[in-house]
Amino acid sequence: SEFVGTFNTKPRRSMALAEQAKRVAAEFDFCDDAVGKAVKEFIREMDEGLEKEGTELSQIPTYVTAVPNGTEKGLYMAVDLGGTNFRVCSIQLHGNTTFSLTQSKVAIPHELMVAKTSKELFSFLAKQIEAFLKLHHEDHYVGTVKRRAGGDENQQEEIFNLGFTFSFPVHQIGINKGMLMRWTKGFDIDDAVGKDVCALLQQEIDELHLPVKVAALVNDTVGTLMARSYTSAGKTGTLLGAIFGTGTNGAYVEKLDKVSKLTKDKDAGEYDKSTGEMIVNTEWGSFDNSLRTLPNNPYDIELDKNSVNPGIQMFEKRVSGMFLGELLRLALLKLVKDPSVPLFTDENSASNDVHSTTQIHDSSPIWKQWGIDTSFLSVCAGDHSPGLRMLRQTLDRDYDISAVSAEDAEAVREIAAAIGRRAARLAAVAIAGIVINTGRLGKSSATATTAQKAGVEPQRGDVDTDQSDEIDIGVDGSLVEFYPKFEEYMREALRAVPEIGAEGERRVRIGIAKDGSGVGAALIALVAGRVESPQDA
Ligand code: BGC
Ligand code: MG
Repeated sequence: SEFVGTFNTKPRRSMALAEQAKRVAAEFDFCDDAVGKAVKEFIREMDEGLEKEGTELSQIPTYVTAVPNGTEKGLYMAVDLGGTNFRVCSIQLHGNTTFSLTQSKVAIPHELMVAKTSKELFSFLAKQIEAFLKLHHEDHYVGTVKRRAGGDENQQEEIFNLGFTFSFPVHQIGINKGMLMRWTKGFDIDDAVGKDVCALLQQEIDELHLPVKVAALVNDTVGTLMARSYTSAGKTGTLLGAIFGTGTNGAYVEKLDKVSKLTKDKDAGEYDKSTGEMIVNTEWGSFDNSLRTLPNNPYDIELDKNSVNPGIQMFEKRVSGMFLGELLRLALLKLVKDPSVPLFTDENSASNDVHSTTQIHDSSPIWKQWGIDTSFLSVCAGDHSPGLRMLRQTLDRDYDISAVSAEDAEAVREIAAAIGRRAARLAAVAIAGIVINTGRLGKSSATATTAQKAGVEPQRGDVDTDQSDEIDIGVDGSLVEFYPKFEEYMREALRAVPEIGAEGERRVRIGIAKDGSGVGAALIALVAGRVESPQDA
């Protein structure tokens, strides 16, 4: 009736569509109350995981017992097998909180992620290391080849200590020894499960006679935590390193005596007890696999059912980059197939040039599993143009859905925002759990002392008397880096947790440690080298 005089059905369709979109978006609500309940469950699972094996949060002891303080020096190598790329780098640590990094990066071919044998994957990795050495460290490389060809036998071989960032759950039994527990992020190579991944890599490196020793096994979250500590010079003592990228996970500084399962592990190797701390890799991607407190809507259920690992990584499947695009796709399909107001069937009235009807072409990736990339959520969240022009262009260019109307684009934007917001609020659950359970909210300047005590240069005398009560968190990954409101949404949820509140939330400092895992792995290789040398001598 507000539109008296027109017989256009447009307003009615618009309103019905907007309502439908709201309804689907609301299926992604995760209210303050639910956040609070999940935080309690997170804390319960943290404690349980520290005591025994086989729990939802794996709480893996990493054998890293000290965080750096910025004074570390030397040339190291690092490789990083993440979810999407393989990176090889060499890192020169300057010892004054800065470093220089040389790196090369290749996308991991999909067929290697699901290869028949782990050898296919690991020999590919070793070949990348070889190519990197040839290109950037020819002196090293050529020297080695000469010696191998029968040169000076007595010449001391120069060996690169390498930190291996392997971003999957590994049962670690030493600083460079650990068995793969399970694959995540779409990887699926059966014969690697249960094997020592350092040995698998070393074997391929040795076959190519490269002067490289796998000195440390590092989860990317641990690397991120180390890198953040190095660059922030131990001022407040970084508490947590977290990844919100293709996958999600976090590692934090825990009191050694709370890691009680370590003393029960008969395979456990040696570690330095002097700092009284150890970094624990939570593997929070598997938080609440049994869905006690996680939201679970029809799209979550559908996504999980069709994944390579149903029933596990349930938190990750609601939070990380590999999955958010798929959730959006499933939610949009629900609207596309809605008989009353099907999405993407509108007349494109918002475009002045041609009067055309929206078309979802058969070739559109929207019809295929994983068809929508999570970067599209960032496009949606970042489009402030009139009529959502960018969003519609992207649908046309990347998704073969042409001439989308402004109204339909608005529906897409709304659902995408709900998915992104829920992901960030879930991320806050993990952060809150760790901040609360480590007791960091209670202390202020005490944290600074702990960090310096844990510094790998124990003789360093200039104890910083910074009274800051900040709780420092290093983050990395495409989602935190590119999703426009991720941190804002996360903070909103942190404030809603009663134990944290606005005051606690203000104390949380979050900083990007871009590609930190490389530097972090180098730092751990350095520490590992120090621990080993007395034995070697
Ligand atoms: C893995 C973690 C990793 C995270 C981020 C998860 O799928 O299980 O080990 O830290 O992805 O890369
Ligand atoms: Mg990564």
